[in-house]
Parts: sequence; C-alpha cells; structure tokens
Amino acid sequence: MTDQAPIVIVGTGLSGYSLARELRKVDKDTPIVMVTADDGVSYSKPMLSTGFTKDKDADGLAQASNEAMSEQLNVQVRTFTTVTGIDTDAKVLLLGDDRLNYSRLVLAWGADVIRLSLAGDGLEHVFSINDLIDYRTFRDALHGGKRVAVMGAGLIGCEFANDLRNGGYEVDVIAPSEVVMPGLLPEVAAGAVQGELETLGVRFHLGTEVTRVDREGEGVRLTLANGDTLEADLVVSAVGLRPRTELAKAAGIEVGRGIQVNRALETSAPDVYALGDCAEVDGHVLLYVLPLMACARALARTLTGERTEVRYGVMPVMVKTPCCPTAVAPPPHDAAGDWEIEQDGSNVKALFRSPEGDLLGFAVTGSYAVEKQALSKEMPPIHS
Ligand code: FAD
Repeated sequence: MTDQAPIVIVGTGLSGYSLARELRKVDKDTPIVMVTADDGVSYSKPMLSTGFTKDKDADGLAQASNEAMSEQLNVQVRTFTTVTGIDTDAKVLLLGDDRLNYSRLVLAWGADVIRLSLAGDGLEHVFSINDLIDYRTFRDALHGGKRVAVMGAGLIGCEFANDLRNGGYEVDVIAPSEVVMPGLLPEVAAGAVQGELETLGVRFHLGTEVTRVDREGEGVRLTLANGDTLEADLVVSAVGLRPRTELAKAAGIEVGRGIQVNRALETSAPDVYALGDCAEVDGHVLLYVLPLMACARALARTLTGERTEVRYGVMPVMVKTPCCPTAVAPPPHDAAGDWEIEQDGSNVKALFRSPEGDLLGFAVTGSYAVEKQALSKEMPPIHS
C-alpha cells in the first residue's frame, strides 16, 4: 500500500515549492502531494518587508495561485489543511480526522513567530508578519493610519521600519538591545544602519521594551519599561522566529533548536526529511533563502535515488534597508579573531580576521556593500 503512496511535502513556502520545482527537473511523474495550512499562494517572503518601497500590496506580492502551482509542477496541493500528527511507523500523516499515507515525507513547515506576553487592552492592534496572509491583514488594518510602532530592532524590524518610512508612516522602533541587529552586525555597522534610519526619520527607543499596549482613541498607547509612553495606530511585533518542532517532537523525531537533520536532510525517522526554517541542518539553524535553496537541490537528488549531502557555501545576508545598503556574513560564534574596521560616515567595512589573517566574517554598509561578492569569495565555505 505504502509503496504507491506519494512523496508528501508539508508546506508551500519557498522551501516546499523550491523542493517541488527541483524534484520536477529530474522526475516528471512520481506523485507529489503538498499539504499546507494556508492558501498555497506562491510568493517570495523576503518581499514582505519591501511592499511600500516597491509599491506592492499583498495582491501585488502574490506570484501564483495554488491552482497555477499545482498545474505548473504537476503536484496536488491540499490547501487549508493542517497537519496534526505523524505516525512514522505506519508512514501516515494525520490531518485532523483525515489520514494521508506517504512514501517519503518532507517537513517544510517553517517557523513560528515569537509572541510577547504584553499587558493592556489594545493587543488586537499588535500584528506579526510571517506570511502573505499576515501581510494582507496588516495592510488592511493599516489603512488610514499614520503611525506604526515596531517592536524589535533585528533584521526584520529594521527592514519594516525602513519600508514603512518609505511609505510615509511615522515609525518608532522599540527594542531591549542597545544596538540594532545585535548578534548579526558588529556594533560599528549597526550604528551606521541606525544612523541612516534615524536620518530617514525613524525614532529608536533602545535599551527598553514594551510592557503594555492600551487602546487610545482609534489606536494604542504603548508603555515602555523605562516609563516612557508613545502613541501609534498599530504595532508590528518583529521579535523573532522559532522553528516549528512540536509535532516532530511528538512523533519521536529528534529536535534541537530545529528539527535535526544531517547533511542529507534526513531526520531521525526513516523516510522523513526536513528543510527550510523548521530545520536544524548539521547543527546550523539558518532562517534564510540561500540555505533552503541549497537544501532543496540536494534533497531533490536524494528523493530521486542519488543520496546527496547539502554543501553550504558562504551565506551572506543582504539587509533590505535601502537607506543604508548592508550585507553581512557573520563569523562562526566560536571563531577566534578580531574585527578590522574602515569607516567613512555610514560607510563601514568591518572584516573579521583570524589570528592568522584569514577572513572569517564581514559586514559592509553603504558604499562598501558592493564588495559583498568579492569578500564572500575570500571566505571559507560553511561546509568545506
Ligand atoms: P514558510 O514560508 O514559513 O512556509 C511554511 C509553510 O508550512 C506554509 O505553507 C505554512 O502554511 C505551512 N505549515 C506550517 N505548519 C503547518 C502544519 N501544521 N500543517 C500544514 N502546513 C503547515 N531571507 C533571506 O535570505 N533574505 C531576506 O532578505 C529575507 N527577508 C525576510 C523578510 C521577512 C519579512 C521575513 C519574515 C523573512 C525574511 N527572510 C529572508 C527569511 C526567508 O523568507 C525564510 O527563511 C523563508 O521564506 C522560509 O521559507 P519556508 O518555506 O521554510 O517557511
């Protein structure tokens, strides 16, 4: 029975659809069923933080309907279908009361947004944006508003702040860190991005956090831990993402920070694989597009009979803050070495070198951002 079962991919984000596309390049016929909790619309998630800059709303960012994807990829797409469990012994996916047999199962079900527990009666004005449906809800709610408070000064918080200013909104960013993008950028580069965002009109409230969100007229009043208050029409929460691991863990699959897979994207359960934002690949949790594309290419080969290990090269991240173009490839956490800094105003070139002088990481802002490619070539790949 199970032999005739399809390859089942859970998730129609960039990971799920990229894998299906890669599979169809080498195998036109094996039945593939894609299961998604959402509407299955194909879109590029990184574009969600560029909507105002590119003058595109949720419809403008949608690339193809689930029907179009189904036809293009010769796959069945089951939309608004939530996986509730996995029986790895019987090779069955549980969909509420329904069941779906699989021959091979691929988990590409992404990451959940972290939600802060806040006091106050205005929490319906707080929005997280992690997919196109969230984005549509946010844009609808924003209609007529002028002031947005962004919780979080990480990559996504900074990108939304820049984009919302480009859309003409007043923007306040609140975050407990003393700098923007801590952990991603060295301080000098973070200072450059923050400075350019401030020049653009973004107001930063760093070293503190939001404790309450209360209704105030049509909008909200935010109370900060430092005692300040500020008003906004709505609040964007961009305080981080956590790989979805619960269902895998409940099925007895090994999880760590993400669903643990080896370089062949194999989980601890036979014929179950994972990639994308939900996966911890060989110890790396990288919630970005380049890694998932590399995984999709490798996994497509494995699923069509040629077991293939993914090889991560250098994975620079472009930060979409057009007021201060920025690219970064952070050094490994445990790397020994020092930052060498060149700076001219908000143009920063920060190179992390080992004691032997090897380049292990970089962050470049402003006019130096164009050096991203050349610097990437100098760096050792993640997987040598
Ligand atoms: P997702 O796109 O989250 O897809 C998950 C899928 O699983 C969805 O279809 C969902 O419905 C489905 N699903 C979840 N749970 C279930 C369930 N129980 N049952 C059935 N289906 C389920 N990365 C970059 O490299 N560069 C960038 O510039 C960049 N910018 C970004 C900007 C923003 C605003 C955001 C939010 C992210 C950005 N990223 C960027 C990260 C990048 O977009 C993600 O790494 C990538 O899109 C993740 O894709 P995914 O398919 O793994 O997950």
